[in-house]
Amino acid sequence: MAWLEIRDLKAFYHGTEVLHGLDLRVDEGDFVAVIGSNGAGKTTLLRSISRLIAVQGSILFGGQDMVRSRPRDCVRQGIVHCPEGRLLFPEMTVLQNLMMGAFLRRDTDGVRQDLERVYDYLPTLANRKNQWAATLSGGEQQMVAIGRAIMGHPRLLTLDEPSFGLAPLVVNAIFEVIKRLNAEGVTILLVEQNASLALEFSRFAYVLEEGRIVDEGLSIGLSTKKSILQAYLGMD
Ligand code: ATP
Repeated sequence: MAWLEIRDLKAFYHGTEVLHGLDLRVDEGDFVAVIGSNGAGKTTLLRSISRLIAVQGSILFGGQDMVRSRPRDCVRQGIVHCPEGRLLFPEMTVLQNLMMGAFLRRDTDGVRQDLERVYDYLPTLANRKNQWAATLSGGEQQMVAIGRAIMGHPRLLTLDEPSFGLAPLVVNAIFEVIKRLNAEGVTILLVEQNASLALEFSRFAYVLEEGRIVDEGLSIGLSTKKSILQAYLGMD
């Protein structure tokens, strides 16, 4: 059994089924991507794993069934979600936003160490720690969102579209941080509309279309597969 093992997952908004029985596996230490176009269900998948919406099926994490867990139980287990659109607290400072990620923690020393880790990974944030989040650029806001997730001490970090709306140079910097986190032991589950980026950085990927997994494989293999090139990488 994989570390995160999802079987026959169905998710619902107001009784309407939007994920139609997904199977997905993530091993500890891995970097897995889910690619898919607008509305395919990528956000819904991550919200399901963090137990933010109603689901059926099974979500096993470290052998434990998470389906009836609350979002805070997921965070305590080490599943930390970095949401689409960053969702910062605009009238709080960078530091206050970062500390919100440690909201459930009581290990003061660990929190202090993780804050140092955030500033080491993302030095811009150290320089801007007293600045209001609302006044940051889009790239800096994404850095705060990732920093806040680091403050939750993730074992499994789920990232929703971290490249969204950012210039290529900034996107690269953000992905280098994600890569480093993975190299230092954080398991990554990334959902991205930017398929080339996701396939470049991940080891394994799933393709999601209209609430169903339609393909999966090693990212390097998918990135040269004709159907993927045509549908997601803009090639004929
Ligand atoms: P995007 O990249 O645009 O966010 P996505 O792949 O993340 O797309 P989801 O946001 O998961 O897709 O949406 C999957 C389906 O669920 C879509 O058909 C969408 O319209 C529907 N949906 C999403 N959020 C809600 C909601 N709060 N209420 C009702 N339907 C929703």
